[in-house]
Amino acid sequence: MSEGQLIYLNGEFVDPKRATVSVFDHGFLYGDGIFEGIRAYGGNIFRLRQHIVRLYESAKSILLQIPLTFEEMQQAVAETVRRNGLKDAYIRLVVSRGPGDLGLDPHNCSGANVIIIADQIKLYPQEFYDQGLRVVTVPTRRNNPDALNPKIKSLNYLNNILTKIEASRAGALEALILNQDGYVCEASGDNVFIVKNGRVITPPTYLGALEGITRNAIIEICQREGIPVAEEPFTRHDVFVADECFLTGTAAELIPVVEVDGREIGRGVPGEMTKRLLEHFRALTRVDGYQVYPEAASHQV
Ligand code: PMP
Repeated sequence: MSEGQLIYLNGEFVDPKRATVSVFDHGFLYGDGIFEGIRAYGGNIFRLRQHIVRLYESAKSILLQIPLTFEEMQQAVAETVRRNGLKDAYIRLVVSRGPGDLGLDPHNCSGANVIIIADQIKLYPQEFYDQGLRVVTVPTRRNNPDALNPKIKSLNYLNNILTKIEASRAGALEALILNQDGYVCEASGDNVFIVKNGRVITPPTYLGALEGITRNAIIEICQREGIPVAEEPFTRHDVFVADECFLTGTAAELIPVVEVDGREIGRGVPGEMTKRLLEHFRALTRVDGYQVYPEAASHQV
């Protein structure tokens, strides 16, 4: 919460103290809802359209009716950033099932709550990028796609939270999560890549991973730059013997991983490909997005 902050709550901009929802909201009672984490760079909301597509796809999958059109939702996000006078921001967009009764049945919910919070971005410590992360694989497996598909960015993040707790209890900052068959899926809140012999590889999302906007941007950058890239299943062993490993996500961008389960990855320092891709990614965040302040942008030209 910051001074003078305004929260979007169902079409109104309200003080954080007034930005409240019912204790009967099924988002609160059951994790029944969806969300997005979005980032703005210098007044440019990075890939807003893709985030809103993912939100509406998640909504469709869980039969949740969003009371705004796609266009209205884009504008609401941009307006929230504008009202808060932000250029660089982390934006949290939440759509919950809304207030119902204590029963599970969402038919008794009166309508979705739409919440947009735009806040100053809290950057990860620079040492993560300079030195890389030590991560561990954890006992809790990724949600089985047949039970709750990890492609749905639902409010039910208990699976992810448990893996985060297990990682920190093991003295690591991040978890690598495997699926039921032992294939690597993703981290608790980021996608995962390895680099081997010049090839950049990430697990296919059908194994059990969110289709990250950052992940897709990295795949596109590789294709554009002529860097071999593939979506292929891989195991812990493949990670141990990789030349490089890194995680991707909206908040983190690209973070090098230098150790997994006590095995040094490559030479134990952030790899050249990881650094090169981070540079390309940061360049893309300047140009590929939704302009929050179009007049300011046209004055600059
Ligand atoms: N996986 C999970 C489980 C996530 O929550 C996220 C978002 N933080 C990601 C991957 C990365 O997705 P994106 O690049 O769209 O932020």
